[in-house]
Amino acid sequence: MLVVALFAGCTRHDGGKIVIGVKFDQPGLSVKRPDGTLGGFDVDVARYIAGRLGYPPDRIAWIEAPSGQREMLLRNGQVDFVVATYSITDSRREKVDFAGPYLLTGQSLLVRADDTAITGTASLQQHKRLCSVSGSTPAQRIKDRYPGVQLQRYDTYSACVEALRNRAIDAVTTDDVILAGYAAQSPGAFKLVGERFSQERYGIGLRKGDDELRRRINDALQEMERDGSWQAAFMDNFGAAGFAVPEPPPIER
Ligand code: GLU
Repeated sequence: MLVVALFAGCTRHDGGKIVIGVKFDQPGLSVKRPDGTLGGFDVDVARYIAGRLGYPPDRIAWIEAPSGQREMLLRNGQVDFVVATYSITDSRREKVDFAGPYLLTGQSLLVRADDTAITGTASLQQHKRLCSVSGSTPAQRIKDRYPGVQLQRYDTYSACVEALRNRAIDAVTTDDVILAGYAAQSPGAFKLVGERFSQERYGIGLRKGDDELRRRINDALQEMERDGSWQAAFMDNFGAAGFAVPEPPPIER
């Protein structure tokens, strides 16, 4: 049975539910609240797409998709698609396909609010301990471009942020929308510093060769942008963090 499911192309698990991989610990983007409900921009995008594919909220099963497990979850057929701050990159495209992009962002730094020593990537070379997440583009970029930095890789960004709070590390790096979510969650504790130093294009991850699903997800994204739901989701989730609503990025067909 398992073999059949793996090769069926479009897996429908769990009694007619669609299975979506998301983060559980990224405020603003995607969080699982204590009562078990999910919220955030990625979750709103995922729910909209599922709706367009014919799956109302009660027919969505959510699975946690940490950075280092996204390709694996897709390739094993454990999820139908992934909406998890997932940057479109050439090396990931060797293993999975992407619909979108649906959001543009870029890598930045989060430090403690009282830190005056770290002002941008250059300060990190001075024996600063930097945290990022295994299997993420920001961790890889630091390894490639800033070899002098002491990089510590954790499984989740929330673990990095706790380590920052406890002074076990000096800075966290990932996309600025993610960092802004943590800063907003703990007012006065943290701040973003420096300029964006990469361009990240968030895509919806799906199994390689799943062209029909890719086309339908792109149609859903386009509809979401056209009917104002994309803009409303942006305001709901990032408005408080001070980001103005941008133009949605053009979808790559
Ligand atoms: N967008 C980056 C990535 O896909 C960083 C965020 C994340 O780890 O989810 O790797």
